[in-house]
Amino acid sequence: MITVKHLSKVFDDKEKPFMVLRDVNCEIKRGEVISIIGPSGTGKSTFLRCLNRLETPSGGEIIVDGVNILDKNTDISAVRRKMGMVFQNFNLFNHLSVLENVTTGPVKLLGMSRAEAEKQALELLKMVGLAEKAGAMPSELSGGQKQRVAIARCLSMKPEIILFDEPTSALDPTMVGEVLSVIRQLARQGMTMAIVTHEMKFAKDVSTRIFFMTDGVIYEEGTPEVIFNKPSKVATTAFINKIRGIDFTLTSRDCDFPGMDSAIEAFCSKYAIAEDVSEKIKNIVRQMIAEIIPMNGRVVINVDYSEKKDRIYISFFCENCREAILSDDRVATIFDARIRPLCMTVHDDPDGSNRLVRLKIGC
Ligand code: ADP
Ligand code: MG
Repeated sequence: MITVKHLSKVFDDKEKPFMVLRDVNCEIKRGEVISIIGPSGTGKSTFLRCLNRLETPSGGEIIVDGVNILDKNTDISAVRRKMGMVFQNFNLFNHLSVLENVTTGPVKLLGMSRAEAEKQALELLKMVGLAEKAGAMPSELSGGQKQRVAIARCLSMKPEIILFDEPTSALDPTMVGEVLSVIRQLARQGMTMAIVTHEMKFAKDVSTRIFFMTDGVIYEEGTPEVIFNKPSKVATTAFINKIRGIDFTLTSRDCDFPGMDSAIEAFCSKYAIAEDVSEKIKNIVRQMIAEIIPMNGRVVINVDYSEKKDRIYISFFCENCREAILSDDRVATIFDARIRPLCMTVHDDPDGSNRLVRLKIGC
């Protein structure tokens, strides 16, 4: 359905030209669900925006159903009609009701009668679970509901492919699920989709293929199984290992404990880790910070889950710390009494002039 060859994009509105997309090549077939993952700033949004010409590429070809959409003679509004887009910030028309948001496009751009457009809108709103909100204004909706309306509005234009740019990134964590569930439903119905997302478990479940983007190229692509479990290239492996865990950087003991707790809970729920294990992790992290870890510089805490071994690793990287953290008598007492029973193994090793403590716990 879409073939991209040597796509490049240079932003030159700054002092010096900045090449965001260097050489993007890919194919998207009808019915595929492609998740695009990768670090921020690597051109994922720019790539999506080039696909429907919200951004004008600097070079290369984008062929949609046999037509090169970069050709001057291409009817770009016809191409855009085939490609719906759902944005991080919903972009609803805030002065229009939910129903009007979903009828305006078909009436104005597809020449549908108002009655027909309303009938379709109600069906779509029902599909995303919001039939009851047809008369509401966007300001009366939660973020998750707004995004579901945005999806219904996108579907109202009968797109052949939907491009999602981080559809859940602006949402409160409690609302992520309802939006992902609508996207999963579209996937089951065979809708072709390209989704930029940081929701890795979702990407793994829903996608036919994953594109890992970094540095302005699709650096590695493959099935979810390959990309998440055995990527073959070094930057992919590094990225996948990093996103499996969560990181906190502390500079004092007065840190945001509630924030950390909720990040740990979200992490555990993402990997379906039991609640008592989540409690264990929170306890260990709190105790270590409050009483055990020296704060001679930055401390980086990493919580990491190995799906294969069903183990959690909690690492504390302590800057400017040459002494063994767990050998001091006082510390050893606290540690032994409160934390050691929770751990399977403990390592405390020098790392240059720093110290790395790594605890392993079972699930
Ligand atoms: P991602 O979606 O992977 O986070 P983006 O495609 O949004 O990355 O952006 C890639 C890079 O391009 C970023 O460094 C960003 O600052 C830059 N960029 C994006 N849009 C513009 C623009 N309109 N003008 C200049 N630079 C831009
Ligand atoms: Mg982006």
